[in-house]
Amino acid sequence: MNDQTPSRTLPAGFGRAFVLTLREAFEGAADDLGDLDRRAGDGDFGTNVRTAMKHLDATLETDLPSSYREYLTALYMAWLGVGGTSGPLFGMFFRDLAKAGEARGDGPGEEPGSEAGADVPTIAQFADALAAGQATIQKYGEAEVGDKTMIDSLDPAVAALRAALEADAETTSVEALFAAEDAAIQAATATAQTTARRGRASYVGDASQGVIDPGAAAMALVISSARAGADGSGVAHFGWIA
Ligand code: ADP
Ligand code: MG
Repeated sequence: MNDQTPSRTLPAGFGRAFVLTLREAFEGAADDLGDLDRRAGDGDFGTNVRTAMKHLDATLETDLPSSYREYLTALYMAWLGVGGTSGPLFGMFFRDLAKAGEARGDGPGEEPGSEAGADVPTIAQFADALAAGQATIQKYGEAEVGDKTMIDSLDPAVAALRAALEADAETTSVEALFAAEDAAIQAATATAQTTARRGRASYVGDASQGVIDPGAAAMALVISSARAGADGSGVAHFGWIA
């Protein structure tokens, strides 16, 4: 068994389902994410999320994306148009995920994205893309695990995804994504116990204690939406954020 076998692929509509689920989750959680940033930061994160989703909606309407790469491109462009620290960091992160749409290579002569699903990465390629995105965020943001940032939920999610894929060849991509989602939500929740060392939240020092990092929570929504895009449910979990 390798990652091209059916259980290790992602469904044909993965790009669309992932991005539209994440859009719903970001919209649904924006107020709570904004509250978290107000309690332990400067309070702009909810607005940043809403602005990114407004950009995304506009692009979805005008560009009519169909392939995985086109959906992820709409998402990364939307975030690059937003301020704060999170705008460029999420923008570059999603750009790395979009690049995974070029990785599969369905054979000679095949136009990537020529049909919905033709450029959907395998789960192993998607895991590599998440890891590449993490490296990009850390290169520019210089945050380490434990600094109370989006890295705190992304790092354990990537590790759990890879561990699940490597532990057992029978593990499906959906099962591996569930493991990643659990790890991300647990780690995001645990950021309440830490003190911020990056971004505006670092200015408030110990006042960030007891408050979940909004960026870590948002990153957990990304992983949750990837799982929901893969299992066909289209429902990400965000009730835990409030
Ligand atoms: P700002 O801190 O500039 O107000 P936002 O409110 O847009 O930025 O985003 C806040 C989130 O960005 C934080 O919750 C944190 O997860 C993330 N963040 C801030 N600085 C960094 C960094 N240097 N590296 C990674 N993530 C960061
Ligand atoms: Mg802020």
